[in-house]
Amino acid sequence: MNNIEIIKGDITNILVDAIVNAANTSLLGGGGVDGAIHKAAGTELLKECKKFGHRNPGDAVITLGYNLPAKYIIHAIGPIWRSGNNDEVKILRNAYQNSLNLMIENNLESIAFPNISTGIYKFPKEKAAEIAIETIKEFLEKYNDKKIIFVCFDNENYKIYLNLLN
Ligand code: ADP
Repeated sequence: MNNIEIIKGDITNILVDAIVNAANTSLLGGGGVDGAIHKAAGTELLKECKKFGHRNPGDAVITLGYNLPAKYIIHAIGPIWRSGNNDEVKILRNAYQNSLNLMIENNLESIAFPNISTGIYKFPKEKAAEIAIETIKEFLEKYNDKKIIFVCFDNENYKIYLNLLN
């Protein structure tokens, strides 16, 4: 599918309508990609995020991109992996799906995803990639003019995505 692209790199540098942040329920920033996005976007982002209050795993909210090349940031809350018996799969799928819903609601053409939950939240990488790709492929069947980029920061995820998509 030529409307799916895989890039190895830092999502804060990607020029798209929206980049997705792997946020936590406070939406107030954190480590990993969340910390990198807040640092690159600037302190205005934190002010806007405070308006949302606490959100649940699986939810997604949209803010401006501030100092980023991307116009918007979609903050999606992935699940913390515990045993796999706590709806982790469903919640990860919801995080991707709710991000895509915001893409449609806001008339966005392009979106870049990090590998949600596969860092500090410890979701098994291969399984997370399968869920992400499956959700995006289903979406593209209906919205085939949209552009989706998977931005892999670590080598392991990059290889997994290349394997699954080729
Ligand atoms: P989570 O808490 O959802 O696991 P993390 O930020 O710890 O979030 O990790 C999610 C993924 O984001 C990991 O695969 C990690 O390698 C990746 N990551 C970390 N920094 C960046 C970045 N600047 N750009 C893109 N991906 C990143």
